Amino acid sequence: MMGDARLIDGKASGAALRLRVAAAAADLKTRHGIVPGLATVLVGEDPASQVYVRSKGKASIEAGLASFEHKLPASTSEAELLALIAKLNADPSVDGILVQLPLPAQIDTLRVLDAIDPAKDVDGFHVVNTGRLWTGGQALVPCTPTGCLLLLRDTLGSLAGLDAVVLGRSNIVGKPMAALLLGENCTVTLAHSRTRDLPDLCRRADILVAAVGRPEMVRGDWIKPGGTVIDVGINRVPGEGEKSRLVGDVAFAEAKAVAGAITPVPGGVGPMTIACLLRNTVVAAARRRGLTAADI
Ligand code: NDP
Repeated sequence: MMGDARLIDGKASGAALRLRVAAAAADLKTRHGIVPGLATVLVGEDPASQVYVRSKGKASIEAGLASFEHKLPASTSEAELLALIAKLNADPSVDGILVQLPLPAQIDTLRVLDAIDPAKDVDGFHVVNTGRLWTGGQALVPCTPTGCLLLLRDTLGSLAGLDAVVLGRSNIVGKPMAALLLGENCTVTLAHSRTRDLPDLCRRADILVAAVGRPEMVRGDWIKPGGTVIDVGINRVPGEGEKSRLVGDVAFAEAKAVAGAITPVPGGVGPMTIACLLRNTVVAAARRRGLTAADI
């Protein structure tokens, strides 16, 4: 196995998941006349956020969902944003509400996220969903860690008893990833910038999830031989000439020579994230009405 890790193809898995979501959405429409609707809210002109919101809208429509895009100026006040969220909470055609982060400095992000109806919180960032995730309740779970988990299950089958190390403790990726792996009966270590001797810790990991936002920080000799590496990082670094290129948080070529399986960047976790957002929207549409969506 050494020297040639299996590539975990997130592009293919993401495309397959989108097809399952589209089938579940079509089923909701045929049986109950419901078209799941996703509302996206973008405040300001951040170019990366504009790209993300546009691709979420496009993917929604491709999967047979309704897409409602709300664009507000960078000068929007917190009260104005909260008023829009109240309107979307009350709108029966909206099943999912996604507020694109980051928000401008004058707006308190946590206050905004917690104003979203937890039943429509398709990003899974509301404190109620966070609490349900950690206590084993029926939560809407953040999309990126859900995507990582689906890739891990596809690659390894049962994860029970495996040693998992999650690098990064953000509310968006690291913490929910740790909760999901614990739910799969892994023994989980959640590491961060104050963790001592990271390389040594990582070398014990059957599963290593890197979500630090530091280009190629994880080196080949941090990897357990035969281990599974999920690289969440998306970092733009200078490339040849004027061009820039994307790299992950893992030094891919080095890690590939040691790991048993590894996600590439791009084409690994990224494509799963949007697919999981669509999945959450269909699940939310069904659950809000006391129905169960087809198995996706
Ligand atoms: P944050 O910046 O919110 O969190 C980074 C985490 O990494 C923090 O917990 C921080 O520790 C830790 N960290 C930073 N430097 C080090 C270090 N030198 N050693 C150990 N730990 C360190 O990032 P996000 O979680 O939002 O995102 C992480 C990466 O994932 C980014 O590259 C982002 O672009 C990418 N991403 C990709 C997505 C996708 O769809 N593929 C979706 C979301 C994010 P501490 O808490 O101690 O400061």
